[in-house]
Amino acid sequence: MGARIDKTQDPEILAALLLARRGTAYFQRKLAELRDDQFDGPSLLPGWSRRHVIAHVGYNARALTRLTEWAATGVENPMYPSPDARGEEIEYGATLSPAALRNLSAHAAVHLNVEWRDLEPTSWNAEVRTAQGRIVPASETVWMRTREVWLHAVDLDNGGSVTDFPPELIDRLLTDVLGAWNRRQAAESIPNFVLRADDRADIRSVTGDTDDGIELLGTAAALTRWATGRGSIGVSTVGCSPVPKSPRWL
Ligand code: ZN
Repeated sequence: MGARIDKTQDPEILAALLLARRGTAYFQRKLAELRDDQFDGPSLLPGWSRRHVIAHVGYNARALTRLTEWAATGVENPMYPSPDARGEEIEYGATLSPAALRNLSAHAAVHLNVEWRDLEPTSWNAEVRTAQGRIVPASETVWMRTREVWLHAVDLDNGGSVTDFPPELIDRLLTDVLGAWNRRQAAESIPNFVLRADDRADIRSVTGDTDDGIELLGTAAALTRWATGRGSIGVSTVGCSPVPKSPRWL
């Protein structure tokens, strides 16, 4: 009998796994609420139908399964053979029947979860390489999956919303986006956005300076929706000037 519970006892990893699993359940619920004939409709992502989103989330689970297997075995197993292969896979996946897309989504998620569950405690520190070329510990695959399932559930555009996200997810997403903008700030002339969430005590910004920049107001969830490139509903500026478009995140 294989273990039915996680081999790791690390409380941080277990908390991260819980958030990923809740996100997977959230995505699967929004997917289950879609009728087959709604798969052809547009998603919130430019140029992508819901089919593309569903295929992408399924193939993302497979890619992260490969990274987890890499961590488990030490045998290099990249997410994708090439950036082109990733895109071609999504285009192909978008042509699958609704039943096949539902199967892909469910089976890929289960497989990834089994790999995580059975990963030896020490292997969570094993280094793997992401599709962007970053070297990360295997534990990072959990966050990489977490942001995919929650945000792409919203992208299905059938009622999912960042306002459903747990507060710790909202805060982690903002940290992730602001960190990415901070690293690219000079190269891409990213302004110092200062985010004043009315339901959080702390003020956040791209540079860390909260006195000088473009101030944006809203709930932390609305600011997260804007920061992740999903519109400016619920976000305003101090002087009521138009809310700028957010820079790209990933
Ligand atoms: Zn994605």
